[in-house]
Amino acid sequence: MIITDTHTHLYSDAFDDDRKAMIKRAIDAGVSRFFIPAIDSSYTKAMLKLETDFPDHVYLMTGLHPTSVQENYQDELAHVEDLLAQRSFFAIGEIGIDLYWDTSTLEIQKKAFKHQIQLAKKYKLPIVIHCRDAFDDIFEVLEDEKSDDLFGIFHCFTGTLEQAKQAISYNMKLGIGGVVTFKNGKIDQFLNQIPLKHIVLETDSPYLAPKPFRGKRNESSYIIKVLEKLSELYDLPKEDIAEITTENSKAIFHI
Ligand SMILES: [Zn+2]
Repeated sequence: MIITDTHTHLYSDAFDDDRKAMIKRAIDAGVSRFFIPAIDSSYTKAMLKLETDFPDHVYLMTGLHPTSVQENYQDELAHVEDLLAQRSFFAIGEIGIDLYWDTSTLEIQKKAFKHQIQLAKKYKLPIVIHCRDAFDDIFEVLEDEKSDDLFGIFHCFTGTLEQAKQAISYNMKLGIGGVVTFKNGKIDQFLNQIPLKHIVLETDSPYLAPKPFRGKRNESSYIIKVLEKLSELYDLPKEDIAEITTENSKAIFHI
């Protein structure tokens, strides 16, 4: 069984004490493909080191996270462009809009999001979207930018059935993680109405640990709990869920 964690911050300092053991736990559990979203330039070195240490398992993205869109955002975008010019990445992410932490930066968040979507089109890469309290603004940008060459993942999808369908209409797959196991997470109530071909698995570790680890540090091996929940919701063996979602991840990341 090959399980793909399409969104894991393995370079996070939350793993500084046991990173190698933590990654080995995941690999032993069948989680052998890790897609690594960027946040901003302060993490670039750690991400490259991760790739050097786990060349057969780690696939890097580049991008500027919406909460890191601050006054210097143009310098940060230039850093992303430099990296793209130097070497290959598997996606532009995570990018998007976050109005939970800061609404004052909405306009520059939108600009940075749009700009990075255009970079993704230029380099023929998928995007990985971060959306927090910002569905309307995200959909407004996607509506402007939609095209056959825009595709990717709506990471940590937590919206309604209607919002799920809208995201899919923009060629986005839904990244499903720990929230699906939460009692009040809501997406478990309609997810099986969304065909599995639109779903990929993720942890977003070290954040959003699934039940029974909720509130603790998350790690990629805990994706098994997400897999088990989907197996229950779709009434399919875990192996099938792992295979289908891994195939979906290959279709997006082209690896
Ligand atoms: Zn993330």
